[in-house]
Amino acid sequence: MRTHRMDKWKRAGVLLLAALLTMLTAVVAAEGKLDDGSPWVDYDLSENVAKVTERPANPKDDLQLYVNYDWAKAVKIRPGYGSESSFMAVSDEIRKMGMEVLTDKTLQGEDVELVQGMYEAILDWDARNALGVEPIRKAIESIQAVSNMDELTALFCDTDSIVKQFISVAATVGKNDPETYLLRIDPLGLLLADSAEYKTRTEMGERNEAAYRKLLEKVMPKLGVTVEEAGKIWESALALETELAGAIMTSADHLSPDYDKRTNNEMNAEEAWALCRNYPIFDIVSAQGYGHAKRCLVSEPAYVQKLDEIYTEDHLEKFKNYLITCAALDHLGTLDKECHDLLIEANNMLSGSTGSRPDEETAYAIVCSTLTTPMNRAFLAKYDSTKMKEEVTRICEECIAYYRELLSTEEWLSDETRKKAVEKLDAIRINAVYPEKWRDYSGLSLKGLGFYDSVNAIRKFEKAYNASLLNTKVDHDLWNFDILETNAYYEPLENSINIIRGILGGVFYREDMTTEELYAGIGSVIGHEISHAFDTSGAQFDAMGAMNDWWTKEDYAAFLGRAQKLIDYYNSMTAFGGYKVQGANIQGEAIADMAGMKCMLGLLSKKENVDYRRFFESYAKIWARINTRETEYYQLMQDPHPLSYLRTNVTVQQFDEFLETFDIVEGDGMYLSPEDRVLVW
Ligand SMILES: [Zn+2]
Repeated sequence: MRTHRMDKWKRAGVLLLAALLTMLTAVVAAEGKLDDGSPWVDYDLSENVAKVTERPANPKDDLQLYVNYDWAKAVKIRPGYGSESSFMAVSDEIRKMGMEVLTDKTLQGEDVELVQGMYEAILDWDARNALGVEPIRKAIESIQAVSNMDELTALFCDTDSIVKQFISVAATVGKNDPETYLLRIDPLGLLLADSAEYKTRTEMGERNEAAYRKLLEKVMPKLGVTVEEAGKIWESALALETELAGAIMTSADHLSPDYDKRTNNEMNAEEAWALCRNYPIFDIVSAQGYGHAKRCLVSEPAYVQKLDEIYTEDHLEKFKNYLITCAALDHLGTLDKECHDLLIEANNMLSGSTGSRPDEETAYAIVCSTLTTPMNRAFLAKYDSTKMKEEVTRICEECIAYYRELLSTEEWLSDETRKKAVEKLDAIRINAVYPEKWRDYSGLSLKGLGFYDSVNAIRKFEKAYNASLLNTKVDHDLWNFDILETNAYYEPLENSINIIRGILGGVFYREDMTTEELYAGIGSVIGHEISHAFDTSGAQFDAMGAMNDWWTKEDYAAFLGRAQKLIDYYNSMTAFGGYKVQGANIQGEAIADMAGMKCMLGLLSKKENVDYRRFFESYAKIWARINTRETEYYQLMQDPHPLSYLRTNVTVQQFDEFLETFDIVEGDGMYLSPEDRVLVW
C-alpha cells in the first residue's frame, strides 16, 4: 500500500513567494465558502473541514464525511506535520511503545545498547552544537579545491567523503532472475523531485525551488559565503540538473504500467561500463565496493549516457556548484540546532506545516531508519507479538482461499490465464508481522561516537553489507525493511505480501475487534495487497517474481479495458481548486482497494448475522485524514494512491451490499448504477 512513507516531504514539495501570494489571495477570496470538488467535496483538505458546520444526517450522499465528521472537526494538525490520519494514530501507538525501548534503562543487550546510544546521541545538543557545521565545511572545501576532472573523480572515489554521487548504486535483485543479487544503477534524486518540473514548473516545483534556495542562502553564510554568492551557486546547480533532467524519467513515467519493462535494462558488467567514455563509472563503482559486479541493471541508460556526455571540463564549475549545494543541504539533519531549525523551516514551506515536532519523535524516526534491525529486534524482545503473527497469518490464508474462488468466477478471464493466476496465488509468500531470521549486526559498534559520526559509521557498515550481497543468492527469510512502519506491501519480485507489526493497531487491528471491524481494518489491507499480484504491474511478474508475461494477450487487453473505465471515472472528478484527479496515476491502487473490499465482502457473505453497517463505517474510519493544502496537492499529483475520501467513497459505492445497507438509491450522492461501476475484479 505504501501509503504514508515517512519523510516523503524531504525532497518533495517547495513555494516561490509569488505562488504563495497567489494562493493566499485565492484563499481569502473563497473565505467562508467551500472549495468545491465533485462529485464530493474534498474533506481531506483541512481548509474545507474548517468550513463545514453540520454533520450529515446519513451516509447517503457522502459516507466519508458522515463517518469522520466529528473526528475531522475535533482534530488539529500537530506542529511539524502536514496531516493527521488514522494511519498516524497507529504510528503514534507504535512510537509510544518504541520510545519505551529507547528510554527504559532496565533493558539490556547489544541491540538495546546500539539504539539507546544512538537515541541519546541524537538528543545531545551540546555535542552537536560543539561540532557545528564542520563536516559540511570540510566537504565543501574539498569540492572547492577541485581544479580538473581527475580530481573530481578522485573525490567520488574517496569513501570517507560525504559528497553526493551522480549515480546511485546498490546490490539488489534483478527482474529476470529475482533469486540473485546484481548491481542496480539509478539516476540521482532531483532537487525539484520530478524531472517534468524542469520543463514546466508546477506549484510543487516552484515550492521546492523556493524552499531549497532559501535554505541554501541561509546555510552558506554560516560557512563564510555571502547570500549573493549562494544564489549564484544555486542557479548553477539547477542549470546542471536541468541538463540532466531531460534524460531522467518523470514521476508519471514511474507510475505508468510499462515502467517495469522500460527500466529492465539488464546487461553484463562490461556492457554497463562501456556506456561511458568520460565518466569513469568502473573506478567510481569499484571504490564503493561493487567492482566485482557480474550483472548490472541500468534502470535509465539514457541518464548514464547524458551524465557521461557532460562529464567534461567545461561543466566542471557546474558540477562543483551542484556538489556544494547538496553538501550544504543533505546533512543538515545531523548537525547543530541552527541547521536543524533551518531544515524545519524548509519542511514547513514544503508541507504547509507550522512549528516543529518534538525532538524525541524525530530522534525515534532516525533510530528506526538508521538502525532498523536492532530497533526491530529490541521492540519484539519487549513486546511479544507471536499471537498477532498467528492471527494475521490466518487472515492472510483466509483471503488467499477467497481469491481462489474469486479467480474461478471471473468470466472475462480465459482458463489459461486463470490457471496461471491460481498458480501465482498459491505461491504467494506470506510475510506476517516479523521475520524469523535476522542479519548479523555484530560488526557495528558506535561506542563513543557522536550523532554525525554514528550516521557515517552506519553508512559505511550498510554499504559493506550491501556490497557483500552482490552476485549471491537471495535469502527470503531476511526482510529488508522496517517492520515498525505503519504500512503494508506487495513485493512483485518475491511474490510476497508483507503485513508488518507497525500497521497492527488502532483502526486496523485490536484483540477486542469484532469480525466486521477486523475485516474492514487489517482484512481489507491484506485483500488489497494480494490483488497487486494481479494488477497491471503484477501481470508482468510470475509466481517466482521473475519478469514474465503470463497473461494471454486477449485477457490482458480485457484487463486494460476494464482499468480504462476506472481511469475515466476518476478523471471525471475534481479534487479542489479546479485540480483534477489523476486517474492514470492511481489506477493500480484504486483497483487494489476495490479488490480488497470485494474479498472482505466475500468472506463476510459466508458468516451469519453480519453487521454491514459496522463494516462499512469501520472501513471509512481507516481513511480518516486531513491535510494541509500543500500536502493535499502533493498527494493528488504525485501519489499512486487516490485521496482518502475517494478511497472510501468510490470503493464502497461499487457494491450492492453498501447501497442496500444504507438504502441508497438513484439521486443519492453515493449512488452508482451497475453499468457505471468500475470494478476490475
Ligand atoms: Zn497498494
